[in-house]
Amino acid sequence: MKGIFPTDRFQKLRTPFYYYDTELLRQTLKAISAEVSKHDSWHVHYAVKANANPSLLRIIREAGLGADCVSGGEIEACVRAGFPSSKIVFAGVGKSDWEINLGLDSDIFCFNVESIPELEVINELARQKGKVARVAFRLNPNVGAHTHANITTGLAENKFGIAMRDMVPVMEHAVKLDSVRVVGLHFHIGSQILDMSDFEALCNRVNELQDELERHRMSVDHINVGGGLGIDYEHPNRAPVPDFKGYFSTYAKKLKLRPHQTLHFELGRAVVAQCGTLLTRTLYIKRGAVKQFAIVDAGFTDLIRPALYQAYHKIENISSDEPMEAYDVVGPICESTDVFAKHIDLNRTHRGDLLAIRSAGAYGEIMASQYNCRPLPKGYTSEEL
Ligand SMILES: *Cc1c(COP(=O)(O)O)cnc(C)c1O
Repeated sequence: MKGIFPTDRFQKLRTPFYYYDTELLRQTLKAISAEVSKHDSWHVHYAVKANANPSLLRIIREAGLGADCVSGGEIEACVRAGFPSSKIVFAGVGKSDWEINLGLDSDIFCFNVESIPELEVINELARQKGKVARVAFRLNPNVGAHTHANITTGLAENKFGIAMRDMVPVMEHAVKLDSVRVVGLHFHIGSQILDMSDFEALCNRVNELQDELERHRMSVDHINVGGGLGIDYEHPNRAPVPDFKGYFSTYAKKLKLRPHQTLHFELGRAVVAQCGTLLTRTLYIKRGAVKQFAIVDAGFTDLIRPALYQAYHKIENISSDEPMEAYDVVGPICESTDVFAKHIDLNRTHRGDLLAIRSAGAYGEIMASQYNCRPLPKGYTSEEL
């Protein structure tokens, strides 16, 4: 065993595969609960899109978190994992009729609605069932996040949410519909956010919008501030549990809730990223004129973040103690973007060595594809190995 991984137990498994340290996941969940339990009216919904591995979902549900779903499939996965429907919210810019019907039949806590046409469809489908759907409006707060351009969601130019200036007219419109009831306002400004001033800016914007609602004699039961807390991809061992204290205290200090209101969070990445690792085996070392390549058996079909967002993942050779050398770590897929890292130092690497691609628990396994007819990677927890 080298480092923190049970390498002996890895030997019999077909690579590539995901490995989840459930002890770290439980520690992370405990750290979240420690902060959230200080406030009676605070709730955390896990953003299922980060990772829907059934073993992880069960642990997250047992910790008492609710679920933030963005598709009918995710609602089904959460119901299967035992999440009470009263803790499921359903967001997403393009909900299909069958997905809305599933949400209505499951009696979920809330639909996060992104447009008037969507509101009208939900109203109509709920009316057909003789139900009243609880809805929250997702507003686009036009708050920038200091993160990768592909993962900002709260700018006016993004496709998400309802423009702020439409908030009051949309609320007034909703009042006229019999089969929806507006219970909340929803926001989400982006992902992998490490600068707390971005969340502060969101708080200030929410405060302004609440004041504006009040001037129109309107109010909502809950505020949902979304997720987006980032993690330390550079140093997965230094800070395996994200700084939840700093994150939640920003909201405690800056957000002005009304006395009857509850506050909802939707954390994804910060919950599961550090507990997951992609294990891949070195197939070949190819020495070129100016560099050497470690060609591994995982590709962007298994972990697409480097190809999609130029994301950095720390990579370690967990089979070798030999001196460090520089490598480009590349996959087998017939695309030039199938590169996990360029010019990184690894212990001298040989065919057969296992490489650990760290911090891969979020937006990893769940984004895997079968391009090139490759099998989907399996996920194993530390408990089952
Ligand atoms: C993706 C998403 C989240 C979770 O984002 P993280 O950065 O993983 O915390 C939360 N809410 C909504 C609406 C989302 O789309």
